[in-house]
Amino acid sequence: MPTSSPYRHLDIPNVDLWTFLFERKDRPYPDDQILFMDADTKRHYTYADTKESAAAFGKGLKFLWNWKKGDVLTLFAANGIDYPIITWGTLWAGGVISPANPLYTVDELAFQLKNSRARAVVTQIPMLRVAREAAKRVGIPEDRVILMGDDRDPEGRAKHFTSIRNTSGTSRYIKSKVNPKTDVAFLAYSSGTTGLPKGVMLSHTNIVANVLQNFEVDGRSIGWKGGPDGKGDRILSFLPFFHIYGLTVVVHALIYAGCRVIVMPKFDLEKWCAHVQNFRIIYSYVVPPIVLLLGKHPIVDKYDLSSLRMLNSGAAPLTRELVEVTSTRLKIGVKQGYGLSETSPTSHAQLWDEWDKSMGSVGKLLPNMEAKYMTTSESGHEPREVPVGEIGELYMRGPNIFLGYHNNPEATAGCLSADGWFRTGDVGYQDKEGNFYITDRAKELIKYKGFQVAPAELEGLLIDSEAVYDVAVIGIESKAHGTEVPRAYIVRSAKSKASGVSPAKEAANITDWLHQKITNHKRLRGGIRFVDEIPKSASGKILRRILKERARREEEILAIPTAKL
Ligand code: AMP
Repeated sequence: MPTSSPYRHLDIPNVDLWTFLFERKDRPYPDDQILFMDADTKRHYTYADTKESAAAFGKGLKFLWNWKKGDVLTLFAANGIDYPIITWGTLWAGGVISPANPLYTVDELAFQLKNSRARAVVTQIPMLRVAREAAKRVGIPEDRVILMGDDRDPEGRAKHFTSIRNTSGTSRYIKSKVNPKTDVAFLAYSSGTTGLPKGVMLSHTNIVANVLQNFEVDGRSIGWKGGPDGKGDRILSFLPFFHIYGLTVVVHALIYAGCRVIVMPKFDLEKWCAHVQNFRIIYSYVVPPIVLLLGKHPIVDKYDLSSLRMLNSGAAPLTRELVEVTSTRLKIGVKQGYGLSETSPTSHAQLWDEWDKSMGSVGKLLPNMEAKYMTTSESGHEPREVPVGEIGELYMRGPNIFLGYHNNPEATAGCLSADGWFRTGDVGYQDKEGNFYITDRAKELIKYKGFQVAPAELEGLLIDSEAVYDVAVIGIESKAHGTEVPRAYIVRSAKSKASGVSPAKEAANITDWLHQKITNHKRLRGGIRFVDEIPKSASGKILRRILKERARREEEILAIPTAKL
């Protein structure tokens, strides 16, 4: 029997995101409440500025390029306070936002632009060259590579988004009508359970639902305090807005509550501590490697972090030990949530007052959701449900489950059933109190500090190297990095073997060659191991379990003191 959420059922309004946020009757804060503030420059947007700027940007899109329902705009940028404006402006015009990692190489960005059929790209000066090259490769005209933030193009070639916002003669345009349930708001990229990154289609209703689901556990419990006095809680945010965790939870849910989001372009421990101290931050969304830094790094002692009450960790596993170390040192709560791009993202979260009662758990199922555990497909049989308490693969159903993968019915059918059950590829169990635990992953995905690495993508690149005959990439836990890291098992090509190059030198050559083609977080930090063959099933599928076992044995042998060997 599937489990239902223990929380009350919520009514999810059938409205698009713009209407939900900007035409709301019960908004609990005034027009001049500051919603986004740049942590360094203090440049900011109030609610009224946000609404006006976003609508003006949407009008400019319609006027200049006849923006239509479903047209995709790629946001290839680091966090900044203009990011939400561009997002909502594009939605106002009926468009879709496809966020991309600002560290992408030309190849990686071109793949996403082409796959999503983007019509324009918004970026910043440091990424302008990559954006231009990728746009050119897929046929996006140069005048559609637009800048955001404080910088202007010194060569004067790129438009700034404010010039689109300030286009005159746009007053006749009205907001585009969309169907909240079936029209896509965000096209986020994830590799899902297998293969290359795919566009995860998230509808307006998916995001509206997830904002309300998060608000129910975080806002309505003792967490966020937005509020009519204009003194919304200050929340420090460095989580990338290009990832669904930042995009839904920080950009959307906090604004719904009326919190003030202090935006950092990227994480820097010392700056993070200084901002907590100076802005009197009460809450921050983090990932496990940052919980580790806050628990152990000496710099933390130099700052007064006494305003901080809670950290919320998600995107990767957080151990009980780490919760204990950091919560004790900072005298705060450290709670955990769980979810996926495909679940918009949050499906589970601990309440503010239960983080120390169920440490190590990802919390309870959010409102309006159901979950069940099934035997994994690795067992070789049709999956069947396992009793509550036993370990299985997690399946979920609810209003925040995505519409499917963009232009990929086969991958969609592989994880989304006709009756709405989504197969997560994550393994775990549920205890008697309804707390869920994630213990393993049955899918290929590797997570480096919360960032996705798709083994199939690295394998696809590596197989093109002259030195490689066959290859498999797996994730291994690295104590040194405090996260999972990718490792490649490689069968050397006959040419490479005959070359007389030593294995160590060849591994370095392959690594250097690969690293020029990929973003930093995908690097082979787990190294290369040369093997005689890659274990495969009769149908040619890589048997990753066997390699993971092998990696574990290698670690165990390395851990034995040499005297005992
Ligand atoms: P993404 O789509 O990038 O958000 O990645 C989703 C995946 O991240 C999940 O399928 C899990 O494997 C992993 N994940 C997210 N949150 C947690 C968590 N709290 N504990 C363990 N794994 C997590």
